[in-house]
Amino acid sequence: MSSRDLMSQESTFGASNYKPLDVVIAKAKGVWVWDVEGKKYMDCLAAYSAVNQGHCHPKIVATLRDQAERCTLTSRAFYNDQLGPFYQQICELLGYEKVLPMNTGAEAVETAIKAARRWGYRNKGIADGQAEILVFSGNFHGRTTTIVGFSSDAEYQAGFGPFTPGFKIVPYGDIAAVEQAMNGNVCAMLIEPIQGEAGIIIPPAGYLKALRELADKNNCLLICDEIQAGLGRTGKMLCCQHENIRPDLVILGKALSGGVYPVSAVVGDDKVLSVFEPGSHGSTYGGNPLGAAVARTALSVLIDEGMVENSRDLGAYALERLQKVSSPHVKAVRGLGLWIGIEVHKETGGARPFCEALRERGLLCKETHDYVIRFAPPLMISREDLDWALEQLEAVLAAPAPASN
Ligand SMILES: *Cc1c(COP(=O)(O)O)cnc(C)c1O
Repeated sequence: MSSRDLMSQESTFGASNYKPLDVVIAKAKGVWVWDVEGKKYMDCLAAYSAVNQGHCHPKIVATLRDQAERCTLTSRAFYNDQLGPFYQQICELLGYEKVLPMNTGAEAVETAIKAARRWGYRNKGIADGQAEILVFSGNFHGRTTTIVGFSSDAEYQAGFGPFTPGFKIVPYGDIAAVEQAMNGNVCAMLIEPIQGEAGIIIPPAGYLKALRELADKNNCLLICDEIQAGLGRTGKMLCCQHENIRPDLVILGKALSGGVYPVSAVVGDDKVLSVFEPGSHGSTYGGNPLGAAVARTALSVLIDEGMVENSRDLGAYALERLQKVSSPHVKAVRGLGLWIGIEVHKETGGARPFCEALRERGLLCKETHDYVIRFAPPLMISREDLDWALEQLEAVLAAPAPASN
């Protein structure tokens, strides 16, 4: 079947909850993907940072294949021989005592919410049913009904209510607003250290540190959603490490399995994660041996192959080059590590036509929130491939604004 036929098959039989670029990928390797007709593209979205390690990393795929032939799922009714090693590796890597594994990012966020509420009732003495969690305007934490219920984006919420109470939205980047929202019922703040979906929004320097201090002062938990920002994307293993803070809970997903299999986790110390006793929470697939084995290799290759440092160094280089682009369309260029947002002016008609023009040149990027081109290639990208990508971006930004399809 041709790309055209496959796209029409998707739109005929599938719910239309996405609006993909017109490219049908059939094969992928490293930073490159090929469509059905064999045309080659560079993937500079990297599945929203799930493929930080590059597509089909040979070591991760070998682990997947090997483990798939031995044992894939036991359920947590029994132990399996992959879970303990996964737990220990992640605890040692991030310096925490405990892990709770799930599958998708949203499930791990839900898990952290449950942990924080229980911790608030049991350890802080909040009256039953009164716990509050502070969240931030522009947040993105996934798509469950509870999570979209505290989104500030009407598109994510419309028609899906009624929503779970107990969340208060405060402006992102404004420490005074957090101080004001604080009260004795607040058990946690849940934050993205950089907001990805909102358009690579970087909070002011010192903000996370100030949140850490406020959390300590008010005896509440600081939860960092590092699902997209973490695991090397910003040039450190965790984004919150740029401010040397240690959240009470860290939420991981996406690149935790290098894009081959969904694995997510909540990482923290016993004082919080011990609120779960047998029967209080679970997931049939969470902690399965296939996912655990894959995640161990996915974490190892990030470290062994220097991808975090590569993200730091090439990210700084790319940001400097993109900030020098002289283009009438560009309003702002911001980023950290290999995670760069190029915001175009409203008059251009939006970022989508730029992404379409880039696709024509063989570069795949995706707009986020209408006006931001998100540039986030796999972290193993070479300097040479990055230079090629930057040339395409520079060319498209220098040309007249592309017309929308
Ligand atoms: C992608 C993402 C999620 C949700 O992960 P899913 O696997 O899609 O459920 C949550 N938080 C952040 C910051 C994300 O980028």
